[in-house]
Amino acid sequence: MVESRSPKPLMWVRFLLPPHMTNETLIEQLIKDGYLKTQLIIDAFSAVDRAHFVPEDQKQFAYKNYPLPIGFGQTISQPLTVAFMLELLQPQPGEKILDIGSGSGWQTALLAYCVGAEGKVIGVERIPELKKFAEENTASLETIPQGVIKFFEGDGSKGFEEEAPFDKIIAAAAATSIPAAWKEQLKVGGKIVAPVNESIHVLERKSQDEFEEKRHFGFSFVPLIGGKQGDI
Ligand code: SAM
Repeated sequence: MVESRSPKPLMWVRFLLPPHMTNETLIEQLIKDGYLKTQLIIDAFSAVDRAHFVPEDQKQFAYKNYPLPIGFGQTISQPLTVAFMLELLQPQPGEKILDIGSGSGWQTALLAYCVGAEGKVIGVERIPELKKFAEENTASLETIPQGVIKFFEGDGSKGFEEEAPFDKIIAAAAATSIPAAWKEQLKVGGKIVAPVNESIHVLERKSQDEFEEKRHFGFSFVPLIGGKQGDI
């Protein structure tokens, strides 16, 4: 006689556990909740898997919608915040974008996917080990065009004069005001999306001297460390 084991206890456990999370389920959730809307950005999230950018001991949590530690007291950003900010930024093929506080390189890689082989993304990170981590993460990713991203170690509150002007500037760490250097290094017609204290500011450069500003409240960010900040 063949011994039979009741599957019932296992079935109950399966009912109690949340459904298995994958990059696809994360993206579906971000679309359902209204954070992801634009096809190019959705395609970037599909091509640039967050699990590739988290340390080994965090891989099991990669598709959770919260920030995760990447070492040196820093985090890889929360997916919904990245989705929200990229939707505000609207990166386009061929653009040159400055990414301040590049951390793990995840957002930098999403931007590289959007700007494509004709574009350029400059990542600035103040912690040298994280700059190296991001370089390794993006170099080993086959789904983004190679040579589009350049990382630099430094204080991003000064922008990045050597590569200015930029079509767009995005930051992942909160300033107390938008640094004057970012505004100076932005092209007319360009856009800055950056956290200031607990809100996300969107600044559009309408002319040499004219900026239009919108604010979105209710977010939380690590602080932008360093230099003199601006007047907005
Ligand atoms: N988008 C990144 C990611 O998903 O991995 C976000 C990383 S974390 C939220 C913000 C990063 O900003 C940290 O790595 C921190 O070291 C960096 N940072 C803070 N102040 C900075 C500054 N003045 N210049 C450059 N990087 C800075």
